[in-house]
Amino acid sequence: MTANLLEFDASGLERFFAGLGEKPFRSRQVLRWMHQRGAGDFAQMSDLAKSLRANLEAQACIAAPAVAGDTVAADGTRKWLLKVDGANAVEAVFIPEPRRGTLCVSSHAGCTLDCAFCSTGKQGFNRNLSTGEIIGQLWLANRFLGAGERITNVVMMGMGEPCLNLDNVIPALRLMLDDNAYGLSRRRVTVSTSGVLPGMERLREECPVALAVSLHAPTDALRDRLVPVNRRYPLRELLKACRRYLDAAPRDFITFEYVMLDGVNDGEDQARALVAIAGQVKSKFNLIPFNAFPGAEFRRSSPDRIRRFADVLARAGLTVTTRRTRGGDVDAACGQLAGEVADRTRRSAAHQGRPVIVLEQRP
Ligand code: SAH
Ligand code: SF4
Repeated sequence: MTANLLEFDASGLERFFAGLGEKPFRSRQVLRWMHQRGAGDFAQMSDLAKSLRANLEAQACIAAPAVAGDTVAADGTRKWLLKVDGANAVEAVFIPEPRRGTLCVSSHAGCTLDCAFCSTGKQGFNRNLSTGEIIGQLWLANRFLGAGERITNVVMMGMGEPCLNLDNVIPALRLMLDDNAYGLSRRRVTVSTSGVLPGMERLREECPVALAVSLHAPTDALRDRLVPVNRRYPLRELLKACRRYLDAAPRDFITFEYVMLDGVNDGEDQARALVAIAGQVKSKFNLIPFNAFPGAEFRRSSPDRIRRFADVLARAGLTVTTRRTRGGDVDAACGQLAGEVADRTRRSAAHQGRPVIVLEQRP
């Protein structure tokens, strides 16, 4: 069987090369060819012995997902639809800014969790992405980006819940950090989780990168409804896990994401309740204006309500920013990623019966 070399982190590739009777430095050369120079075939790897190249051609391949769509939004945000198998496709999004370029990466085809306001959740779930399918998103984006565009930051904020796929996500994170691969600092790689506690603990132990936690509500009653995984891992435990994560984190704060849903979680009282609980953790708040999708049951909070909510947090001494919606015109904004998921749960069918309220999509 041919081995897809995108599936390996540095130590995995070294083991594969040892199996071929090759020295570790050869595996590092190949790692650099693939991830730094974007090589997709062994013939390019001119500093390898011909015999090794022939051997690799016989036993290995470099196979990324197939690009099925490539859309650029008016603001330059670029979204790729990537076919990961015959039935499933996921999305990756590049967000250019003046001094940085952020790639938003998916970890699953669909999501097992079912947050009330998330388009991915509504699609149901098919499967975990493999390490090669996750790192393949960086590999492909690098090939497609134009001169002057560079991935300086990665956020695991695409489709899926990274903390439920750490067997495959951690090797991909290691490649993002590896000097022979993408060489990003831990501070520039962020995992976003809806609060899967065992995953947060494992990440802390094995590969602490920057952490964002999707908080979205100041009480268990509301969070149970919006982020159902809260029923399993309630706020008190979540906040404790956040404090613990900070022991190992590359940054001295956790980012709390908070989606702004009109009349649901965006009141000033709710902001005050949030101050009371979040004050326990060194954190920065990132308010995300809700992005609509067909069938969504929420509306985005008005700019005025968002401002008043942010003011309560800021007056209490918390750092708060409001995320600017990017790529909304091509459905590339937070929570709009849908790809194509051959749902193995019954969830997508259940959601189809709902009334469809299509809200304004542009910022
Ligand atoms: N599963 C992870 C990461 C993917 S979602 C998580 O939930 O954290 C990335 C962020 O987008 C999360 O904070 C998520 O709550 C938010 N999000 C989901 N749907 C959204 C929507 N419709 N509008 C705005 N943000 C949304
Ligand atoms: Fe899954 Fe995150 Fe969407 Fe919730 S918000 S359904 S955890 S992708």
